[in-house]
Amino acid sequence: MAAAFDIAVFGGDGIGPEITAPTVALLSKLAETSAEYDLTFTNHDAGATHYAKTGESLPAASLEAAGAADAILLSAMGLPDVRYDDGTEISPQIDLRKAFKLFAGVRPVRVAEGGETPLKMPAGKSIDFVLIRESTEGLFYTQGRGEVSQDEARETLLITRDISEKLFEFTFNLAKDRKAQGRGPGRVTCVDKANVFRAFAFFREMFDAEAAKHPELTADHAYVDATALWMVQKPWDFDVLVTENMFGDILSDLGAGLMGGLGLAPSADIGLDQAVFQPCHGSAPDIAGQGKANPFAMILSGAMMLDWLGLKHEVPAMCADAARIREAVEDQVRARADVTADLGGNATTSQAAEAVGKKLGC
Ligand code: ATP
Repeated sequence: MAAAFDIAVFGGDGIGPEITAPTVALLSKLAETSAEYDLTFTNHDAGATHYAKTGESLPAASLEAAGAADAILLSAMGLPDVRYDDGTEISPQIDLRKAFKLFAGVRPVRVAEGGETPLKMPAGKSIDFVLIRESTEGLFYTQGRGEVSQDEARETLLITRDISEKLFEFTFNLAKDRKAQGRGPGRVTCVDKANVFRAFAFFREMFDAEAAKHPELTADHAYVDATALWMVQKPWDFDVLVTENMFGDILSDLGAGLMGGLGLAPSADIGLDQAVFQPCHGSAPDIAGQGKANPFAMILSGAMMLDWLGLKHEVPAMCADAARIREAVEDQVRARADVTADLGGNATTSQAAEAVGKKLGC
């Protein structure tokens, strides 16, 4: 009997609905043609457009449905001119991260051999690493609660044993899965600033304790400044990187830059029980409603969701379909055929997505 999964879908704001519809259509067709798994997608309300209409950005019913689903597929959220009374942007993705304790922000960075990147990639090299950003504490701990007086401002960086141990266990397991799938050598790098801050020495100590449990993997350390340099000089050498929230925030945009921009950057926020899959980019209101949005980051986020569900529930066909999606998108990007304007093409959102479907035979 096929494994069945309920997916909670949040269509989002701006270009959100335009990139969500073809992604859900593609995933539905893949599931229909598979005897191994079924997917049921249910739309839920959240976001800036919903807030403008109702005064609620993430209704309790949506939060409850998201918690009950097997996974959450979330599109770009927020609009610059729709804000809470305190002036901050509507961001249900942050509420979901907090509600479900999604401590592991997973940001894959891939450029296939011969693919487009602002770097000069040596022949025979490709980039394929994963940056894991702790997403619930670190320097974001006092987000919105920093103390500011006439002469001083303070924010607190928090590193806890509880979250760090979970983060490192997750990281080493991910490296193990990548190694088993032939996608990486099984190398985990702790990115910190342990030479300057005691909090990072503490972070590193817990990393080393987890590393000792995985003799089949290689573990090493790098300072965050050196990591930024190496991400430009030799990103093909990385496999899995794990770091604190703010460092990860910055390095993940550098990673998106290596891939030629945000339109190709997927992400996942993963906790012990729940996970959200979402493109890295925002709702791009400047191009909303014009059929110009690149759907690939959303489609690749859908592939990450298949991978996560497939590994968690031991359905290898889902991981295989995730790999097929990644390869189809990469082929298209490499050939610059059926790509949207941000990648130099003239395809519409739906034409670009349909071309991926055709490559996959659906
Ligand atoms: P946020 O703060 O919500 O992350 P942002 O202000 O950083 O958003 P985005 O909404 O991501 O910005 O848009 C930044 C630029 O990238 C805009 O010019 C937008 O049109 C473009 N862009 C973002 N996503 C896409 C996409 N999927 N396809 C094409 N262009 C995009």
